[in-house]
Amino acid sequence: MLALLRSWLRRRRLERIRIPASTWRAAVAVLPLADRLNPTERDRLRDLATLFLHEKALEPAGGLELTPEMGLCIAAQACLPILNLGLDYYRGWSSVILYPEGFLARHEYTDPNGLVHSDHRPLIGEAWERGPVILSWADVAASAAEPGYNVVIHEMAHKLDMLTGEVNGLPPLHRNMPIQEWSRVFNDAYQRLCREVDRGLPTLLDPYAADSPGEFFAVISEAFFTAPDRVLTGYPEVYQQLQAFYRQDPLARQPLNEPLPAAPDLPGPAP
Ligand SMILES: [Zn+2]
Repeated sequence: MLALLRSWLRRRRLERIRIPASTWRAAVAVLPLADRLNPTERDRLRDLATLFLHEKALEPAGGLELTPEMGLCIAAQACLPILNLGLDYYRGWSSVILYPEGFLARHEYTDPNGLVHSDHRPLIGEAWERGPVILSWADVAASAAEPGYNVVIHEMAHKLDMLTGEVNGLPPLHRNMPIQEWSRVFNDAYQRLCREVDRGLPTLLDPYAADSPGEFFAVISEAFFTAPDRVLTGYPEVYQQLQAFYRQDPLARQPLNEPLPAAPDLPGPAP
């Protein structure tokens, strides 16, 4: 009932606050991610971005001068993963903090002897459970057109993962998606990447994905939307799982008369 009411209120609100068509066209013109969306998908992305900007506060930090174009750029990218899921998948948090460049974040960790340490690490993006998403504008802008990388999608994938609790690479699956199948496919792919990284072999994904299953899900989600051919080539079963979860097939958006970008030479699966 609440969801129905929220959906009705959002539709009413959209009639008043929808991003003007010319503003939207200018915003997505610099985003290759939006190039291949059909007109219906572009309209849906525009509506989601409008509501995203209405429901999430964009907060500048570190002396950043926030412009409306920055907000639009972030909202358009943030809403691509939920294009066919809906804005409720970003429930439970309300702000995006934007720094001009990479920022230092304090982290605590426990060493093998049980001692808790704290340090400050430079980051380009961070997502807090039930808290803000923090982004570096320089890196958002740089990765907006870079195949295989996207800082905004990475942090949004963490937000989706957090819907089921800890960041472990398991977002809330749909009813028709057996959890055992997701776990098997992702675990096999993650283990393979870890072996490749350990052996110093070339990897299809950013080696940072080997950091943990949660990072693997975020990194391969970046690639799913920005270089889907690489994911389908190297991780076909993961591609199918992501296609089912995001309810999107980014590769199908590739025009038939345009050759796919070349994937790097890859080693075969490690024994
Ligand atoms: Zn991450």
